[in-house]
Parts: sequence; C-alpha cells; structure tokens
Amino acid sequence: MRRIIGFFKSFLLLELLAGLRVTLSNLFKRKITIQYPEEKTPLSPRFRGLHALRRYPNGEERCIGCKLCEAVCPALAITIETEEREDKTRRTTRYEIDMTKCIYCGFCEESCPVDSIVETNIHEYHGEKRGDLYFTKEMLLAVGDKYETQIAADRKKEAKYR
Ligand code: SF4
Ligand code: SF4
Repeated sequence: MRRIIGFFKSFLLLELLAGLRVTLSNLFKRKITIQYPEEKTPLSPRFRGLHALRRYPNGEERCIGCKLCEAVCPALAITIETEEREDKTRRTTRYEIDMTKCIYCGFCEESCPVDSIVETNIHEYHGEKRGDLYFTKEMLLAVGDKYETQIAADRKKEAKYR
C-alpha cells in the first residue's frame, strides 16, 4: 500500500507542488535581504564584537588586574601579567587577547568587576596574518579610547539587564 501511495505522490508531483506552495506564499512578502556593506542592520547594544579596555574619565585604566576575565575565558584567549605600583594599587603589565581563539562568549565582560574589558559593536575588522589578531594591551586601550562614547552609551542602555 505504501508503495502505491508513493507512486501516486511521485506521479502527481505532490512534493514539488508542496514546495512551490511555500515559494508562492513568500513571493509577495516584504523582502528582508539587504545590500551589505552599503546597507546595514541595526545592532543591539549587547552585541559582542571587538574587545576594548576602558579608562576612567581621569585617564586612569579601569583594570585592576584581578584576572577574573582570564580565569573565566573558556577559550584561554586572555593572558595577563600584573605588578603592584608604588601607590599599592595593582595594574596589568601585560594584557593580551588572541582573537583567533576567542569565541565571543562575553564571559570576560560579564566577570569584570570594574567594567574594564568590554566587547564593542565593532565587527568589521580583520587580520591578514595570525599575529594581526593578537591584541595587546596598548591596542585594546586604543580601541577603548577611540570608541568610549559609543561604549558608554551601550553600557547605559543594557544596564537594566545586568
Ligand atoms: S569573549 Fe569569551 S572567549 Fe573571548 S576573550 Fe572573552 S571570555 Fe574569552
Ligand atoms: S579586565 Fe576586569 S576582570 Fe579582567 S583583570 Fe582587569 S579588572 Fe579583572
């Protein structure tokens, strides 16, 4: 019996017609394809893109070298070394993220007690060799300095979800 039903299904092109029904039902719907990169979709303030290290308004680095982000990183992408300064505060002497390992999970950002390491909404960056995606402390601070206004605005928008 199953073979007879299968034969009639094939003979009457029922599966083809079912597929065409889906096509027809979408033919006159509003198109959602955009012409990237000329057109862009809006990004959530919680978007997890390129990392940045932030400073306080007085220029002091936020990072206190607690290494929570390094400990929580599931990809082991973060490397930190610290030292105590003369004023007894602790600061990093080395802070590096290997973006080729990073899986953009956001755990580092979530774990940071002082909102120092953050993920920005920058996603259009690339490296032409492996070393280009090895972000040093200076590079991460430079990203933070350049995009601080946007970063602060995004943090404010998502504050109620944190
Ligand atoms: S986003 Fe996730 S994988 Fe990437 S550095 Fe942060 S904790 Fe590690
Ligand atoms: S970025 Fe934040 S979590 Fe990571 S070491 Fe600095 S203060 Fe700690």
